Amino acid sequence: MNLFNVYPLYDVTPVSAKDVYVYDGKGVEYLDLYGGHAVISIGHSHPEYVSAICYQVEKLGFYSNAIQNPLQEELAKRLGRLSNCEDYQLFLCSSGAEANENALKLASFHNGKKKILAFNNAFHGRTSAAVAATDNPKIVAPLNAQQQVDFVALGDLEAVEAILKKEETCAVIIECIQGVGGLDESTSGFYQGLEKLCKQYNTVFIADEVQSGFGRTGDFFAFQKHGLTPDIISIAKGMGNGFPVGGILIHPEIKASFGLLGTTFGGNHLACVATLSVLKVLETEQLTENVKRVSDYFRSKTEGLPGLKSVKGRGLMLGLEFEFPISELRKALIYEHHIFTGSAKNPNLIRILPPLTIQEKHIDKLFEALRYELK
Ligand code: PLP
Repeated sequence: MNLFNVYPLYDVTPVSAKDVYVYDGKGVEYLDLYGGHAVISIGHSHPEYVSAICYQVEKLGFYSNAIQNPLQEELAKRLGRLSNCEDYQLFLCSSGAEANENALKLASFHNGKKKILAFNNAFHGRTSAAVAATDNPKIVAPLNAQQQVDFVALGDLEAVEAILKKEETCAVIIECIQGVGGLDESTSGFYQGLEKLCKQYNTVFIADEVQSGFGRTGDFFAFQKHGLTPDIISIAKGMGNGFPVGGILIHPEIKASFGLLGTTFGGNHLACVATLSVLKVLETEQLTENVKRVSDYFRSKTEGLPGLKSVKGRGLMLGLEFEFPISELRKALIYEHHIFTGSAKNPNLIRILPPLTIQEKHIDKLFEALRYELK
C-alpha cells in the first residue's frame, strides 16, 4: 500500500529527539524551532513526561468515557488553577479540529442558531462534515443542518455587528493571535468590543487557543492579555507535547446534559497523564517566564537583519516577515544549518514555534545562520 501523498516532504527523517534537538538516523542534530506545528511545549522526550506515560501505559492505557476516570478530574483541577480558569468545565477530545467542532456544535445547541462568524486568514482545522452526515437529531446541532460561515476582516467591529444583528450567528470564533494565517493580532479594544457584541446579540464567543495556549505567548492563554472571558476556549497542540489530545473549556453559563457531546478516545488515561505532566513541567520549570525572557532576546537579535520587514507575534509564537518569499531560505536553514522553522499562508513569513524550554544560545544559532544566508 502507498501513502496518500498529500504532504510535500523535506528530505530529513528524525528518529529521536531530546529537548530542543531532533536527530536523524546518522546522528545529525537539528535545532527544532518549529516543534512540529507548535506541538512541543515542554521539550522533546522530557523525562517527567516519558516516565508518566510509560508508567500509565503499563497500568491502564485506555478505558471508555462511560466509566469513571479520576485522572480527568485531576487534570481539570490542575488546568483550572494554572490557567486561572477555575470556574470553567472541561470536555476532552483528541485534536484541535475536534475541539473546535465541539465548540461550534455546543454553541449552536446553546442558542439554537446556525451560522458562524470567523475572520479573514483564520485557521481552525480541517473537519466539519462528519457530524452533518450523522443521522441522529439528538447529537447533530442545528448549525450542521445548514452550516454557513461569514468571514470579516480582523479589527472590523462594524462588519461584525452588521452580521450579528441578523440574530442568525451561533458563534464567533477567533484566534487572538493568528497561527497559520500569519501571526496577525488586533487591539485589546477590538477583542473587548467583539466580546461585548457577542453578549449583546446572544452569540457564543469562542477563543481558539489550539496553537497559542499552554503558555506559548507568555500568558497561559493569548486572550488573557486582552482581559477577556470567552464562553468557550479550545485547546490542543502544546497540551500533549506530542500526545494527541484536545479539549474545550466551557463557561459555567453553558450547561451540560447527558449525551450532548461524546468521543471514544478523548480524555483517555494516557492523554490525561501526558497533559498532567505538561502542566507540572510548565509550572515547576516556570516556562512562561522563560518564554517572555527568550522572546525579548529574540526581538533584540532581529535588529538590522537584512531584508526583514517586520517581527510578528508574541512570546514564542513569532514570525519573521521578509521582503521576499522565504522558501529557499527555509531550505538553506534545514539543509545547510540544520534548523527547523515553519511557514505560513504569507509566503514571505518564517514562523518560529520552538519548545518553550529554548535558551538564548539557540536563538543565537538561528541568527548566525540567517545573517550568513542574508549577507
Ligand atoms: N486551530 C488552530 C488555531 C490551529 O493552528 C490548528 C492547527 O494548526 C487547529 C485549530 C487544528 O488543529 P488539529 O490539526 O489538531 O486538528
